[in-house]
Amino acid sequence: MAFLKKDLPKRSENLSDWYNKVVLLAELADYGPAKGTMIYRPYGFAIWELIQKEMDALIKEKGVSNAYFPLFIPESLLKKEEAHVEGFSPELAVVTIGGGEELTEKLIVRPTSETIMYDAYARWIHSWRDLPLMINQWNNVVRWEKRTYMFLRTTEFLWQEGHTVHATHEEAWNMVTWAMDMYTKVYTELFALPGCVGKKSESEKFAGADVTLTYETLMPEGKALQSCTSHDLGQNFSKPFEITFQNQEGKNDYGWQTSWGLSTRSIGGMIMVHGDDGGLRLPPRLAPIQVIVLPIKAESTLIAKAEKIKDELTKHGVRVQIDASENETIGFRINTWELKGVPLRLEIGAKELAEEKVTAVRRDTGEKIAVPLDEMTTTIPKLLDAIQANFLAEAKQFLKDNTHTASSSDELKQIMMTSRGFISALWCEQEMCEKKIKEETKASTRCMPLDAPDEDGTCVGCGNPAKHRWMFGQAY
Ligand SMILES: [Zn+2]
Repeated sequence: MAFLKKDLPKRSENLSDWYNKVVLLAELADYGPAKGTMIYRPYGFAIWELIQKEMDALIKEKGVSNAYFPLFIPESLLKKEEAHVEGFSPELAVVTIGGGEELTEKLIVRPTSETIMYDAYARWIHSWRDLPLMINQWNNVVRWEKRTYMFLRTTEFLWQEGHTVHATHEEAWNMVTWAMDMYTKVYTELFALPGCVGKKSESEKFAGADVTLTYETLMPEGKALQSCTSHDLGQNFSKPFEITFQNQEGKNDYGWQTSWGLSTRSIGGMIMVHGDDGGLRLPPRLAPIQVIVLPIKAESTLIAKAEKIKDELTKHGVRVQIDASENETIGFRINTWELKGVPLRLEIGAKELAEEKVTAVRRDTGEKIAVPLDEMTTTIPKLLDAIQANFLAEAKQFLKDNTHTASSSDELKQIMMTSRGFISALWCEQEMCEKKIKEETKASTRCMPLDAPDEDGTCVGCGNPAKHRWMFGQAY
């Protein structure tokens, strides 16, 4: 863990250099040997495990069960839904040789699991009694990428994908919005990342969906990150895959489907938004280590006290570690744990020992607080809650400060050349116009906020009539 502060570029000066370096130095991840791949190191994987644990409970509470489907999809299955295969073709990894022999049918390494799951769903669903069918899987998917941006863009990534079948469109739509509400809760309460929830445009929606809902977050340099999605698949897959059921009137009907996913990309967004020049800043709820205890010197009495503090806080549900490494100075250790983004540091020296207290230092504000040892088990969890709340408040303020409105094409261009951010503007919802705006300003439609009222205005791009205000931004 040898690390010098000068090795880390300043986030305020060069965000992408800072990002690449902080991911490596904090030991979250490393590059894989095959282009486009990454290794999730234990510290980074522990963050994903915390996300999984919280989300898995919410998913199960809804009545969705976990299962696992194969990694390989026969090409013929993928080709069943036209828009789907067309959308994914450019980024597929295809297996043509297996066991030393040319395969009679190519196998696709799953880019997402709709087709392989729905092939089985068709066999499992017969009557309205079999519905709703609600399955989630935690797995990896592969979408070919030429340039790696760790967590944010890699050929292979981890995610969860939920896939449900319902008897009516209304029920399916309720599922689509439930998933987005669940993601909003997770993003707000765990990641401390506020965002914009809305509907994707026709050209930006998922290949094979009728409607795609998205959660868009804003990164420090004013670019938008699509942070998770929930799709209303209508009967687009149930028809080619023949997912039919006998309804209560005894008639055959096609199922109504949804799919929804959140990936390890979310960790990348969190790193970008909350980090600072000193390194990572992890929100306590997603910090693998919430409290690091640092004995100022490697003396046995201090270490014994640190052990006691650790035991007691652990009993109260706090994730604690001690760093008493003898061969590193206290300054070096402080820098290291700051870099790794641990929300709270407890220092204990001779003075603290004599006064029966610890010095708590907040990673988010740098504030130092003397905490009496006999109050520690109530004060420390409260401090962690305060830090979590502060991250959300900061990110909300940033989002607010960087959300603009544009009423003309020039205004849109002007904002995109300076601060960027989210730009709310009236749009005609025509694809050609969307394309033109993107070419001229780099801004694409991010979403139409779900609560956008009907309006009577003119399009920011072409001047034709426009009914709704859409959110524009430069995509990652
Ligand atoms: Zn237009």
